[in-house]
Amino acid sequence: MSQEAIETLLAEDRTFPPSEAFTAQANLNDEGIYERAAADPVAFWEEQAKTFEWMEPWSQVLDWQPPFAKWFVGGKLNLTFNCLDRHVNAGLGDKVAFHWEGEPGDTKTLTYSSLLKDVSTFANGLKKLGVGKGDRVTLYMGMVPELVVSMLACARIGAAHSIVFGGFSPDSLKERIKDSESKVVVTCDGSWRRGSPVSLKKNTDAAVAEAPTVEKVIVVPRLGDKIETPMVEGRDHWWDDVIEGCSDECAPEPMDAEDLLFILYTSGTTGKPKGIAHTTGGYMVGAGMTTKWVFDIKPDDVYWCTADIGWVTGHSYITYGPLLNAATSVMFEGAPNYPDEARFWQIVEKYKVTVFYTAPTAIRAFMRWGDEHPKKHDLSSLRLLGSVGEPINPEAWMWYHEVIGGERCPIVDTWWQTETGSIMIAPLPGLTTTKPGSATRALPGIAVDVVDENGESVPKGGGGFLVLRKPWPSMLRTVFGDDQRYRDVYWSKFDNLYFAGDGAKRDEDGYLWLLGRVDDIMLVSGHNISTMEVESACVDHDDVAEAAVVGRTHEIKGQAIAAFVTLKKGVDGSDDKNTEIRKHVSAKLGPICRPDELYFAPELPKTRSGKIMRRLLRDIAEGRELGDTTTLADPTVVDSLRQQYEAKHA
Ligand code: ATP
Ligand code: MG
Repeated sequence: MSQEAIETLLAEDRTFPPSEAFTAQANLNDEGIYERAAADPVAFWEEQAKTFEWMEPWSQVLDWQPPFAKWFVGGKLNLTFNCLDRHVNAGLGDKVAFHWEGEPGDTKTLTYSSLLKDVSTFANGLKKLGVGKGDRVTLYMGMVPELVVSMLACARIGAAHSIVFGGFSPDSLKERIKDSESKVVVTCDGSWRRGSPVSLKKNTDAAVAEAPTVEKVIVVPRLGDKIETPMVEGRDHWWDDVIEGCSDECAPEPMDAEDLLFILYTSGTTGKPKGIAHTTGGYMVGAGMTTKWVFDIKPDDVYWCTADIGWVTGHSYITYGPLLNAATSVMFEGAPNYPDEARFWQIVEKYKVTVFYTAPTAIRAFMRWGDEHPKKHDLSSLRLLGSVGEPINPEAWMWYHEVIGGERCPIVDTWWQTETGSIMIAPLPGLTTTKPGSATRALPGIAVDVVDENGESVPKGGGGFLVLRKPWPSMLRTVFGDDQRYRDVYWSKFDNLYFAGDGAKRDEDGYLWLLGRVDDIMLVSGHNISTMEVESACVDHDDVAEAAVVGRTHEIKGQAIAAFVTLKKGVDGSDDKNTEIRKHVSAKLGPICRPDELYFAPELPKTRSGKIMRRLLRDIAEGRELGDTTTLADPTVVDSLRQQYEAKHA
């Protein structure tokens, strides 16, 4: 990173300390925890693990044969016992686990005891169909209560789940079923998407036709007669028939700490998805502890994470983390702008949500739709806000802070990955003074560093590659069925350091600033410039809602900067506006960062998880064939950008 580029980013000097009142009530308000954890991480993690219930204790906390880790060796447990039975036994059976909010009109309440019964019943149903310990089950469903029930039922009997986001195509589903060698697929007849029925079962049929390991398909009736659902005799079973006659008690299977809990394929922002393998004990410790500390979960909180369970955020922070903490959560099936753009705020008001966790892509959309939507609703119940998925632009952070948080809610910007299993870098809301756009520092017990090409730590004020220096309990154990890929992708760039694939800077206070993927960093006339910084400078312009920046080959400079910009509602994309935005970037970051080209785009290409896919924009800017587009949410978006680009360069 050039010194100049680093200094511009680190010029952010607004700081937000937690209020005294927040600190006083926080789950964690002892600053010494960082030092104690760093002094003896193994003892620290052992202490955390003891806050859960184990069937048999471990004989060794960590067995580390780089790059392969075993945590809580010999320990036996069942994760669902810790998520459900433990709380029911403690008298919390009637507490609400989920307020399920379906497409307008549908709601359902799941208490801890009703969820335990549903999970046990379906677990018995799975057993009846021949599913047992060590099997894999693919879940391809919408955001229905049966999805949570299915994942927990798998964990109850020791089968690993592999959840495939319900928006994926039959081809993507097929690849994931085949790679995981799933024996059973649980799906829905269909799902509601912005008021219209979409078939899931037909996609499942197409995928299963080419996935010979699948013996049974279980179908949840979500749409009923609103959609046609052909069933294959002998292979396909309706959910209700599977659970018919099953007992609502099912003893939790004793699992080894290192037994496979789930496989989850990464979202594919950088290429072919990898089957990330997570095991039982360490994952529980990571997901449970971070939920308690980062989201400061209390008995009377109403927590809402807006992710889809098809992504890791939903695994760790809708299902496992909140349930481990006996939290009451909202689970939402619909879209943020259906029936209108105030849908989220209406839900916050309705359930008096106190802790709210969403993604920068959503926050930028809210900004674009206008303040009038949140202002229509009472958001005074909110006390803590979270962000995940991409770096959050300072401008979006400030909007979140002011308009949604009423300037009173700490914001936790949480950096982590499918691979890390749980949050690695984030403020502790009762302790950390935040800065807009910085994820601040690593959590206690997590050894984050920023290093140069040689794996040496960069000094404060420097930038480089984000790495983890020590194993942590919720880390991925391998890429499913492909230990070599695990070594190659994560452990071969540096000796014994986990390479996250992201760039980062560390400021003079030691705060971390995530710069996005290493592949997204540009080299312009000898200066390393992060796409993230230029994007944030674009978004800082009053008329800009969202921006994606890429470098393209340039004879003289090495790389030239191309910006793709979405304007706020009602703003006209004139040539003057184009020049004005480029000037704004130049004024903010220096002339070297001024985009050479700027295109107005009604939408940016994003993954189905809502992340900007810069590699496709790079392909467009270089005039190349597009790479893998299967994880793209809306393929027409790139086609229209390509036409615009070609028209200009014709
Ligand atoms: P693939 O690995 O297949 O390309 P992906 O990396 O998008 O897909 P995820 O595991 O869902 O799949 O995302 C993790 C990545 O998201 C991180 O490596 C980082 O680039 C980005 N990210 C997540 N949270 C943050 C955050 N708070 N700040 C900055 N970046 C973040
Ligand atoms: Mg990744």
